[in-house]
Amino acid sequence: MADLDKQQVLDALDSIIDPVSGQGLTTAGLVRGLTVSATRAGFMLEVPAADVERYAQVREAAEGVLYSLPGIEKAQVVLTAEVAEPHAPRPGPQAKLSPQAADQGKPKAPVATARPDHVKHVVVVGSGKGGVGKSTVSLNLALGLKTLGLNVGWLDADIYGPSGPVMLGLNTPPSFSEDKKMLPPLAFGLKVNSVGFLVDPDQAMIWRGPMASQALTQLLTQTQWGTQAQPLDVLIVDLPPGTGDVQLTLTQKTVIDGAVVVSTPQDMALIDARRAVTLFDKTQIPVLGIVENMAYFMGADGTPIEIFGRGGAKKMAETLERPFLGEVPLDPALRQAADSANPLRDGPVAERFAEMAKVLWAQLAL
Ligand code: ADP
Repeated sequence: MADLDKQQVLDALDSIIDPVSGQGLTTAGLVRGLTVSATRAGFMLEVPAADVERYAQVREAAEGVLYSLPGIEKAQVVLTAEVAEPHAPRPGPQAKLSPQAADQGKPKAPVATARPDHVKHVVVVGSGKGGVGKSTVSLNLALGLKTLGLNVGWLDADIYGPSGPVMLGLNTPPSFSEDKKMLPPLAFGLKVNSVGFLVDPDQAMIWRGPMASQALTQLLTQTQWGTQAQPLDVLIVDLPPGTGDVQLTLTQKTVIDGAVVVSTPQDMALIDARRAVTLFDKTQIPVLGIVENMAYFMGADGTPIEIFGRGGAKKMAETLERPFLGEVPLDPALRQAADSANPLRDGPVAERFAEMAKVLWAQLAL
């Protein structure tokens, strides 16, 4: 069956009346991040926090409309509350707030005292900048932890550029349990969920901060990561780059047992990585390791070529007195593996990730 046209879906959704404005849902601008494929359709219904309850029925009606469209077997409407933040700046797609700026004008938010149900440890992987290989490192660390016999989850929370669907070769929203929790698909032995499963990755770029935080909260707490009988040992969370609102939100939603910071060796990346470490310090999240990605390229004659310089992240780890987890070379096989949904599972680079995972797990187990 040919994919439905997005406009057809928007038109159908406009037949539902928004109880606040009296307009159709689409006209009222409430349909965000619509994704449509041959058999699935979904979007985010973003409404003011005070009105969330009023929209529960609208959400159900919208799912009903989606199900009534030809070919649609799975419909999902995620209701998110827009939190009013009159004094907070609206971050753009890659906007960064310094920890100091993020602190200003905000009430001190409560820090979470629990992890998501049946999750024993939560580790976030962050970077100061995009494109340094944070997602690649976080997924491979998760796979490394898996090789230790652990039950591991990977949450792609990179709201501004979710790479999960491409890296995992999965593009379907999770199904739901009877108690309405998302059942994470299994990929390479990992329980996975991605913001990219719920919304079109291109649409994700235009999310506003509070909406992104809501979606992240749902992914984190409304996913059935583990069960009483089979708890998850570690949940690895791939954060968006930078030191912005999303990172801070997370600290209010779950206990975070530690952070891994990924950097390339160049000065610019290191300056931003240092900011990421500062943010984790401010939020009392222990930095369990710094990883230097793309540290060198192994030449054909076995001589390492230090394309971006080498050792900068290691030095930073020493200066800041944080554990250095290790170097990852610039490796075309790693790139190809990451970009073709076939992660490296053996060979020297995979072994290196397994080694780093061992060090990480040793620290968590402490
Ligand atoms: P980020 O999450 O920091 O934005 P990604 O993990 O998406 O970065 O990586 C960006 C690109 O660089 C991807 O194409 C990925 O495959 C590639 N990449 C990351 N690390 C390496 C590496 N060590 N060697 C080769 N390619 C890499």
